[in-house]
Amino acid sequence: PKNLPIADVLIDDNDNNGKRENQDKPKLVILGGGWGGVALLKELNANDYHVTVISPTNYFLFTPMLPSATVGTLESRSLVEPIRRILGRIHGHFIRASAEEVCFNEKLVEVSQTDLNGKKIHFYVPYDKLVIAVGSVTNPHGVKGLENAFFLKDINDARMIRNKIIHNLELACLPTTTDTERRRLLSFCVSGGGPTGVEFAAELYDLLNEDLTRNFPRLLRNEISVHLIQSRSHILNTYDEEVSKYAEKRFARDHVDVLTNSRVQEVHPDKIVFSQKQPDGSLVTKELPIGFCLWSTGVSQTEFAQNIAKTLGDFQTNRRALETDTHLRLTGSPLGSVYAIGDCSTVQNNVADHIISVLRSIAYKHGKDPETMQLHFSDWRRVAMEVKQRFPQAVSHLRRLDKLFEEFDKDQSGTLDFGELRELLAQIDSKLTSLPATAQRANQQGVYLGQKLNKMAHLSKGLEVNDVRDGDLDAAAFKAFEYRHFGSLAYVGNSAVFDLGEGWSFTGGLWAVYAWRSVYFAQSVSFRTRCLMAMDWAKRGLFGRDLMS
Ligand code: FAD
Ligand code: MG
Ligand code: MG
Ligand code: MG
Ligand code: MG
Repeated sequence: PKNLPIADVLIDDNDNNGKRENQDKPKLVILGGGWGGVALLKELNANDYHVTVISPTNYFLFTPMLPSATVGTLESRSLVEPIRRILGRIHGHFIRASAEEVCFNEKLVEVSQTDLNGKKIHFYVPYDKLVIAVGSVTNPHGVKGLENAFFLKDINDARMIRNKIIHNLELACLPTTTDTERRRLLSFCVSGGGPTGVEFAAELYDLLNEDLTRNFPRLLRNEISVHLIQSRSHILNTYDEEVSKYAEKRFARDHVDVLTNSRVQEVHPDKIVFSQKQPDGSLVTKELPIGFCLWSTGVSQTEFAQNIAKTLGDFQTNRRALETDTHLRLTGSPLGSVYAIGDCSTVQNNVADHIISVLRSIAYKHGKDPETMQLHFSDWRRVAMEVKQRFPQAVSHLRRLDKLFEEFDKDQSGTLDFGELRELLAQIDSKLTSLPATAQRANQQGVYLGQKLNKMAHLSKGLEVNDVRDGDLDAAAFKAFEYRHFGSLAYVGNSAVFDLGEGWSFTGGLWAVYAWRSVYFAQSVSFRTRCLMAMDWAKRGLFGRDLMS
């Protein structure tokens, strides 16, 4: 390790009895106070660990409601919860800083923070157990001019977007503004047809329709335009087909201009340049004058997670996420001391390996050589059943195991030969490289890890904290993590689109809006947040949005 100070004793260890009691407990350090980190904190017993959260943001953010904050449906304060408040129950500590690197052998996290003079301070925080839950960053996809675009990840982003929208509306109202300039100022563009982009476009449409005539009577509805640029042929393309069709129909009715098969090339301050694939396969470059652009085209790794992957070298080969085993232990790190959860991580299932071993056993049963065997559909069904049983978390990615058989039986012989099978397994593996980057998943992993750490604290009483057996204990004492897919929800206009997976989807209706909100109410962290949101909705219902910045 480098020659840096080590934060061995925290100054507030003597603040109260609770903290004093935990002073000599195993040190549990959690990097990140988002969905994963907070779900874990909520699950932990009060007196088992000496807990420290390290994060550059000192609040938890209720992200599913962030699009509503951009247009003032919700106040931004209602979406956040101070981490220190959450830590109170377990007598935990908070350090406002960013993790930079980890020395796995010495069990030290290097963190940094900028001081008042703009100088970077570096120091180490020691741990017995480390949880990496640092989330993700917006994916720039190498596009030029993103300094002219807005992102939607954090509460400050929501504020900046809100101010920009209002500023544009005010500028458009000036008597000196020309017709062309007004149309440009009122041209809003969303790049990315995933849930965030779709929800934002829907919220924006609501704002422009519900509050504009009231507050900006000078602006004409037909001068306003909302555009959504999507690289795939459909918006919400990872959802059920029905859901994505419903959203498209909805947008078509509302005159939200959906541009599919389009890739953004450059964002300028006053226009966006993109190429659109034509039905005949040719590419045509187009330009759109814009007054605002939201960039929401998916996520990628934080710098810290990239550093970790580099440190662990060959153990970490997935470029999109840190790999863990099914017990959420970071692959390549000393067993039982480092975990990764949430957006920054993915679980290695080794489904393909498992399928191969099942196939071997089938082959031997038939007295055949697995390499030359022809696999019949009935055999495949057996394999598929086995996969579903062993890897329930994988099933949502593999909804149509039966269909895969037909798809990969290229010569339509009704059997798969070894080559066809190999291609099929490659596809399964690539589909399973990542679990979805959702609050739902981060929350499940946080809860799982919290329960496990609670159990291990009890089992390891009497054991040395650094005992090697601790690592094995981990897997022996607690079941593997299983992801449960409860469906994705997206908010479209004044109704929700429900995607519950396995072909269960509902669309439309006001009841859906309330059902959708109550789902998130239940997920919300505290009674305080719930009250604040309810008050915001009531206020908006009564008085409309506050359009000022
Ligand atoms: P995060 O919640 O992002 O938390 C990461 C934490 O780590 C933050 O506190 C951050 O400050 C901290 N951090 C970052 N770098 C470091 C570092 N170097 N050292 C220490 N700490 C660090 N999901 C759904 O399921 N449903 C939805 O409706 C939904 N809507 C969304 C809407 C928007 C606008 C966005 C942006 C996301 C939405 N998501 C939704 C996705 C969901 O928010 C993420 O999947 C979830 O936040 C992931 O949780 P996490 O704990 O991995 O990361
Ligand atoms: Mg987190
Ligand atoms: Mg968060
Ligand atoms: Mg994470
Ligand atoms: Mg065949």
